[in-house]
Amino acid sequence: QRAEFDQLRDTPAVTKDGKRIVLLTNAGLAVDLENLDATGAEGIGLFRTEFQFMVSDELPRLDSQTALYKLVLDAAGDRPVTFRTLDIGGDKVLPYLDNEREENPALGRRAIRLGLDRPALLRMQLRALLTAAAGRELRVMFPMIATVDEFRAARELVDIECDWARRRGRPLPSLLRVGAMIECPSLLWHLDALLPLTDFVSIGTNDLMQYMFASDRTNPRVSERYDALSPPFLRALAEIQQKCADSATPVSVCGELAGRPLEAFALITLGYSRLSAPAGGVGPVKRMILSADLNAARRGMNVLLGSSAGSVRGEIESLARKLNV
Ligand code: PEP
Ligand code: MG
Repeated sequence: QRAEFDQLRDTPAVTKDGKRIVLLTNAGLAVDLENLDATGAEGIGLFRTEFQFMVSDELPRLDSQTALYKLVLDAAGDRPVTFRTLDIGGDKVLPYLDNEREENPALGRRAIRLGLDRPALLRMQLRALLTAAAGRELRVMFPMIATVDEFRAARELVDIECDWARRRGRPLPSLLRVGAMIECPSLLWHLDALLPLTDFVSIGTNDLMQYMFASDRTNPRVSERYDALSPPFLRALAEIQQKCADSATPVSVCGELAGRPLEAFALITLGYSRLSAPAGGVGPVKRMILSADLNAARRGMNVLLGSSAGSVRGEIESLARKLNV
C-alpha cells in the first residue's frame, strides 16, 4: 500500500468527473516538514504553532519562533503554508504560561481567548511570523474564534504589528492572508458577518464536533459516542460550504476527518475542495479522490442529509461502494 501511495505522490488529486481537490497536510514541528515531499501534499493547511511551545520548558523567544517559521517557509518553497496562532489551554497546558487550573478547560480560556487577554504574547508571535515571511506570502489564522469581534480584535493586532514593522522600515510579506478557524458552533449563525472580514476560513472539525455534540474529545467515554457522519454535522458542513461559496471565501477542512477516506469522500461530495490531512492520510485520501464521481455521489448524499438517524456512516459506505469509490 505504501508503494501504491508513493506512486500517487506526483499525481494531481482530480475526481473522476474532473474536479480538482487541493490536498494539503497538517504539521507542527520541524520533523514534520519531510512529510511534504514524502506525501506529495501541496502545502501545509494547518501548522500548529503551539507544538514548539509544548516541547519547550520556557516561552520560546522571538528569535526561536522566527527561526522555526522561516524553516517551515523555506521547506515549503512555493507551496502555501497556513500558520495557526497559539492554541494553548484546553487539553494543552504549559507549565510556564497561564497554568491556573480550570474546572472545564475545553470551555475555558484557550486559544484566541488567551491570545487576546495576553496581547503581548500574540503580538510576539505575529511579529515572528511577519519577520519570517518578509518578501513572501504569509497566511495566518486564529483558533477557536467564537465571535466576530474576537476575529476583528485579532486581526487588529496583525495590523498593529504591520505598522510597527513599517515604521521601522522592515520588509513585510509580499501577500498577507488572515483567516479564522471555524470550531465554535456560534459562528455558524454569524457567517454573514464574519466571512466579509476574513480572507479565508478553515474548519477544525475536531473541535467543531466536540462543541456541537457537547462531547469532550479527550474523554474516551464520550469521544467516540457521536459520529461526524451524522445529518446534523454534515448539514452544518454543507451550510458552511454553501455560504463560503456564495461569498467567494476560500474554505478548507483541517480536522482529522479530512484525513480519513470515507469522511473525506463525504466532504468532497458536500463541495469542499481544500482538505488538510495528517501526513498518513494524504495517500489514502488521494486514492479515494481519484476514484470518486461527485455528480453521482451528490444525489445520494442529499437524501442522507434528510435522515433522522444519529449516524449515516453505513449508508455513506454503501454509497461509496456502489459508486466504486
Ligand atoms: C480541530 O479542532 O479540528 C483542529 C484542526 O485543531 P486542533 O485539533 O489542533 O484543536
Ligand atoms: Mg481545534
